[in-house]
Amino acid sequence: MEYKKNDLLTVTIEDMGHDGEGIGKVDGYTVFVKDTVIGDKVQAKIMKAKKNYGYARLVEIMEPSKDRVEPRCAYARQCGGCQIQALSYEKQLAYKQQKIENNLIRIGGFQKEEIPMQPIIGMEDPYHYRNKAQFPVGCDKEGHLIAGFYAGRTHSIISNRKCYLGVEVNEQILNLVLAHMEAYDIPAYDEMTGKGLVRHVLIRYGFQSKEIMVCLVVNGGYIPEAEELIARLCKIPGMTSISLNINREKTNMILGRKGKLLWGKEYITDTIGPIAYQISPQSFYQVNPVQTQKLYEKALEYAGLEGNETVWDLYCGIGTISLFLAQKAKQVYGVEIVPAAIEDAKRNATLNHITNAEFFVGKAEEVLPEKYEKEGIYADVIVVDPPRKGCEESVLATMVKMQPKRIVYVSCDSATLARDLKYLRGEGYEVKKVQGVDQFPHTVHVETVVLLSHKKSDGHINVKGEFGEGEGKVPLDNIAKRAEEYKPKERVTYKMIKEYIEAKYGFKVHTAYIAEVKRDLGLPMYDAPNAVEELKQPRKHPTAEKVEAIKDALKHFEVI
Ligand code: SAH
Repeated sequence: MEYKKNDLLTVTIEDMGHDGEGIGKVDGYTVFVKDTVIGDKVQAKIMKAKKNYGYARLVEIMEPSKDRVEPRCAYARQCGGCQIQALSYEKQLAYKQQKIENNLIRIGGFQKEEIPMQPIIGMEDPYHYRNKAQFPVGCDKEGHLIAGFYAGRTHSIISNRKCYLGVEVNEQILNLVLAHMEAYDIPAYDEMTGKGLVRHVLIRYGFQSKEIMVCLVVNGGYIPEAEELIARLCKIPGMTSISLNINREKTNMILGRKGKLLWGKEYITDTIGPIAYQISPQSFYQVNPVQTQKLYEKALEYAGLEGNETVWDLYCGIGTISLFLAQKAKQVYGVEIVPAAIEDAKRNATLNHITNAEFFVGKAEEVLPEKYEKEGIYADVIVVDPPRKGCEESVLATMVKMQPKRIVYVSCDSATLARDLKYLRGEGYEVKKVQGVDQFPHTVHVETVVLLSHKKSDGHINVKGEFGEGEGKVPLDNIAKRAEEYKPKERVTYKMIKEYIEAKYGFKVHTAYIAEVKRDLGLPMYDAPNAVEELKQPRKHPTAEKVEAIKDALKHFEVI
């Protein structure tokens, strides 16, 4: 059966797509219906028809699903923020767990039985979890000032100062700001004309510290009668920072580059677990601190640190994971593309008196291969937390060459995660645990943390044929010889070289010196534990005596 635009049909929703839309089938024709949940029987109107499938609009719920709940928010359907508020929280979690598993099967090529799925970690109270809100300010049709949220996929503002995902104090702050604008005829910014002053109100809240930050994004350099607004805002308990952000560009970017402090501190402080973070209006910071702590504790558990490890944290942002890992590792190295984030990471390391974390600005796909090829960096454990597009293949390839014992993959998109796990599995890493964490209740997003560990080569070979003497048969001796060739050589470590030299010559040699001699000899640098220390030290050169001892050791171990 084929349908066309404006056809009405009755359909039972059997599945949910990646954006939370309901999916049902009528006579073999698939329809996608937004705002429905699994189990709903609905009447829907086809808006866009293709040969085998179509997109339909919900007209009426004829029989609601037993998993359907009344959304707390009256604007849940229009607003672009939540997609699945009408589904019970329990079923939201089941949906997310399924989404991860399906992607691993469909994209990652895993069998269902092989996926070590752990039960997803949800929230006890899945409301008011966001520590950051950015309300656009505008005017309604009658010209009244409004603040709220963008309707899904558009820039028209739905007036709503009470979002159930944000903290309750947001509403009080918005009321004060809008009342001030009304009192002094301060115009809201108009995206069409580029005129008007106030664009957004950004509010951040420290869940542990209870500190509040208010930042008004303005298309100008000041706010009229600011003193009065400040005096009112200051009365809110916990108010710590009030500032302007100047954005005069015609752009979708919320924040401009320049900030101007009006009152209090430039930043608020908050803690996740034992680590404190300073957060400015511009800083990236995880929006759900309660779940972030659970996610990072899992990542730390999976890293399995005992205190002696060198760990790389790729895509480290402001170093949230790096600083968590630094508590238990010998040394952590973080890599991040945004220079301002690295500045935050360094400042946060200092704030927490963490001295064993070092940060590099750059693309992971450039920094890691370069440091590996040139400096022979080493890792016991590698943690990655890439953006939605996942890791570049060159990053994965370098990780594999570095042969860490464990890889911990933190992902915000299980489709690209599945793709990357397929690659790592093909290169000898086994998926040991897959843990979903619900960082964003009522939305379709889910975070996943995966533990991979290196599957040691077992020297196994498959030979087909008959054994023994005689024509067409494979002599057993040959098999033994071939097996010998296949046996992987024992890896010569820096530790072995150091021990050999100390025993034979009675002096110690620094890892960096061994790395230097190896590099001068043009040897591959993959087995360079701690050679990375050289990054921190001015380049010194070994004495001729030490160079000779190192060469001797390399000969002894048949490296040269
Ligand atoms: N773990 C971090 C956040 C990771 S989000 C935290 O909790 O703070 C992903 C990060 O990857 C972002 O900070 C983004 O700026 C960074 N990023 C994006 N592309 C990158 C690349 N090619 N190389 C390194 N970092 C990148």
